[in-house]
Amino acid sequence: MSTPKPERFEFQAEIKQLLDIVVHSLYTEKEIFIRELVSNASDALEKFRHLALTEKEVFDEKLELEINITTDDTANTITIQDFGLGMTRDELVENLGTIAHSGSKKFLQALKEGGDQSANLIGQFGVGFYSAFMVAGQVKVYTRSWHLEGTGHCWTSDGSGAYEIEEAEGQRRGTKIVIELNDESKEFASADKVKGLLRRYSSFVPFPINLNGEKTNTIQALWLRGKSEIKDEEYTEFYKYQANAFDEPLYRLHFSADAPLAINSLVFVPSSNIESFGMGRSEPSVALYCRKVMIDAHPKDLLPEWLRFLKGVVDSEDLPLNISRETMQDRSLVEKLNRVITGRFLRFLDEEATKRSEDYLKFYGEFSVYLKEGAATDFSNKEKIAKLLRFESSLTEKGKLTSFDDYLSRMKEDQKDIFYLIGPNREALESAPYLEAFKARNLEVLFLYEAVDEFVMSNLREYKEKKLVSIDQSDVELEDTPPPSSEGALDEETTKNLCLWIRDQLGDRVAEVSGSKRLIDSPAMALNADKMMSAQMRRMMKAMHQGDDTPIKVNLEVNPRHSLIARLNEVRETNPELGTMIVEQIYDNAMISAGLLEDARTMVDRIYKILETAAGK
Ligand code: ADP
Ligand code: MG
Repeated sequence: MSTPKPERFEFQAEIKQLLDIVVHSLYTEKEIFIRELVSNASDALEKFRHLALTEKEVFDEKLELEINITTDDTANTITIQDFGLGMTRDELVENLGTIAHSGSKKFLQALKEGGDQSANLIGQFGVGFYSAFMVAGQVKVYTRSWHLEGTGHCWTSDGSGAYEIEEAEGQRRGTKIVIELNDESKEFASADKVKGLLRRYSSFVPFPINLNGEKTNTIQALWLRGKSEIKDEEYTEFYKYQANAFDEPLYRLHFSADAPLAINSLVFVPSSNIESFGMGRSEPSVALYCRKVMIDAHPKDLLPEWLRFLKGVVDSEDLPLNISRETMQDRSLVEKLNRVITGRFLRFLDEEATKRSEDYLKFYGEFSVYLKEGAATDFSNKEKIAKLLRFESSLTEKGKLTSFDDYLSRMKEDQKDIFYLIGPNREALESAPYLEAFKARNLEVLFLYEAVDEFVMSNLREYKEKKLVSIDQSDVELEDTPPPSSEGALDEETTKNLCLWIRDQLGDRVAEVSGSKRLIDSPAMALNADKMMSAQMRRMMKAMHQGDDTPIKVNLEVNPRHSLIARLNEVRETNPELGTMIVEQIYDNAMISAGLLEDARTMVDRIYKILETAAGK
């Protein structure tokens, strides 16, 4: 009996188009062909496992359900073999010659809609089986179906429009794909290279993968197992493997959800913040999986930017019966995943903060900058994130932190706003004149020390419907307990005239000068004149755009109950020259307290002159 001659077929038009793109794209991530072929092998094994449960007889019953990969760097080949369900001759034509059943369909669709970014699209979608032609001169598919009757076949193509099928004797059940690598892709005949790629993309494939006889995937897809059966050491081992890390994670969150999506997720917070070592901005590192196969190690939109410090895995199988990864490329699906996981993680942090506050503060010390970024930028979650922020305040001890909620619980009944003050450190804020009125009225003020706090507070604007108010603003309204009167205080009319005179002396540097109701111990204070932008913020901007010489304008409030101000009112008549010097110095001192003095040189000369006068020249 002679075996029939090889039969020649043309690829369907769509496949030709696809192959053309695949072969001609100088795609840098052509390595994904391994992921695609291993996934197909795993799918075939999975399908076989299912049908073996119901079919009475299958071909080659005793074979192990495993994937064998061999590399040959003399012949420049890589071979991927599975003992899955295999294909009949008709299935070869249908599955590999037409687009009907292929995951590549989505790719072509996206190409039609999206235009010319074919290289990007390949990485995103994979092009299934055809990705083999990115690295191949020739591909041979040896296969034998699980049906008892029939024979094996060999499918051959160089990817240029046509393929051949011929019978092949002595095939075992399943599929063996032999790739003759093209000249630009010889690296994939190296066992080390392939080992790395298997680790990257296929570590958690649920069947053993042997590379040149050695098992490569020894770590389990921990996220799919029940929490109660997993030991701490296993979690840590998994974290180190998956995140390429050497430390012990600070937190882990392992959870599953069924609605609105099937999600299995295992995320970790590392022990330290990498970005603080000056390593630059980290990439998002919670990898996206679908049924244990990695889709994307650094998916951009899976989580909000500010959660880029998280490590781990999110796995979703939205369509339980269809073994295909198409569904993962759906945008709305990724958005849903984002919402669920972010919400769950925020709830987790909130619980930790309440139940184990000591540990939470350790986390906070390391990662607060991300929370702050989130509070300022993640519009849909900002209140939940703000709840997690911690600050020192005028009522806490140095080094002890409090939350917005604690602040609210201590707030006076008629207090409408949450007060805060930003400055370099606690000492500077405590000695600043702004605090006097708040101290006297026993109003709590949050102390903020970081450059980003300005940005956070102005974006956050309120918490639980209480406005966030910086107490260096001019228009802070206090419940009006009348200020303590003191003997020798200037009356209203005199104060007004004095203020006009001061305004003339200071010119451009001030917007308004007025008598203060809130000052107690200090003669004057500088307040932020521009409601839209705080003075600190403007100073930061100025530092960035050097050469912009517009002075920082402030409102100056003077304290009519302070003896220096009363004396000043006399001196401006009796010794106007000294009066002017005193005003200048009061202004500079107020600017120093506000952290706004730009140049102290002129001040030194002036102080000497004032001292001379004091010493009785
Ligand atoms: P997808 O896997 O998304 O369906 P592919 O282009 O990767 O698309 O594969 C096309 C089809 O070829 C598969 O649906 C499957 O029917 C068949 N196939 C590919 N590889 C194998 C294999 N190793 N064993 C059995 N069938 C396979
Ligand atoms: Mg596939």
